[in-house]
Amino acid sequence: MAEALLQVKNLKKYFPIRSGILNRVTNNVKAVDGVSFDIYKGETLGLVGESGCGKSTTGKMIVNLLKPTSGEIVFNGENIVTANKKRQKEFRKDIQIIFQDPYASLNPRMTIGDIIAEPIKINNLAKHGNVEKRVLELLDYVGLASYQKNRYPHEFSGGQRQRVGIARALAVNPKLIVCDEPVSALDVSIQAQVLNLLDDLQKEFDLTYLFIAHGLNVVKHVSNRVGVMYLGDLVEVAADNDLYKNPKHPYTQALLSAIPIPDPKAKKERIILKGDVPSPINPPQGCRFHTRCNKCMEICKKEKPKMKEMENGHKVACHLYDESSVE
Ligand code: SF4
Repeated sequence: MAEALLQVKNLKKYFPIRSGILNRVTNNVKAVDGVSFDIYKGETLGLVGESGCGKSTTGKMIVNLLKPTSGEIVFNGENIVTANKKRQKEFRKDIQIIFQDPYASLNPRMTIGDIIAEPIKINNLAKHGNVEKRVLELLDYVGLASYQKNRYPHEFSGGQRQRVGIARALAVNPKLIVCDEPVSALDVSIQAQVLNLLDDLQKEFDLTYLFIAHGLNVVKHVSNRVGVMYLGDLVEVAADNDLYKNPKHPYTQALLSAIPIPDPKAKKERIILKGDVPSPINPPQGCRFHTRCNKCMEICKKEKPKMKEMENGHKVACHLYDESSVE
């Protein structure tokens, strides 16, 4: 296995809930509650789960847009969370993010050229005369024409704006890019073009991606490994072909059963999850998924299952596999 570029260790993010005249903290929204995973150099790790499961919050902590409540984010052997300000600024260059809504993330009053030039100037990555040359180079990498640098974000389509977001992320020569649902807001016909572009850029610049998405169908074609999150916790991680062929966690099995097969003769039994996702303020005791799981046992209501490695790096947190675990 390749070297880990990023290690996330027992990462937590609690958002306090305040109430009363004294504005005291009365509870916490446990958005991310003890997530651990590695991302290896040059790979794409897909991270999926329903809305509110904590996947985007995890991504934002990795790029330092949110401060973790506790836990470690180790990049190239160094803990980002406890690094000094100078090092954190350097990490911000190495780890970039592409947002879901490219329009909201681009300043509407700046031209595309200025938007892409901004991080180059802030980080002194090109001498004055070379900034424009670099901007044109980046526009070319993402499939935009040089004359478009003088246009404003509103003059572009959703797919083109996402290309601008990618160019801006590339401008600082990052090593890791957090792709936070980068194609969710795009038409299906455009999604494939942006995914292909990300794939080409990964090969060209030896990039590593954390690819956050709502559904397993989106990450299937772009990920080397996939992690599944539920209610602030990681429940399963495996190589993508292993996860799709042999899902072990009942939640992953339910998510996969919801993906339509483009064959009218193929039979597939859809697993319907009962109830709604519980509140992250008071998550269920034991296994967080037990209130919706069709295989729930008594132990699931009391004990939180540990993440166990099964085979070939396939990890799952579920009591169904307690005896066969290698831990
Ligand atoms: Fe279902 Fe129990 Fe496994 Fe949780 S630990 S997913 S409740 S079988």
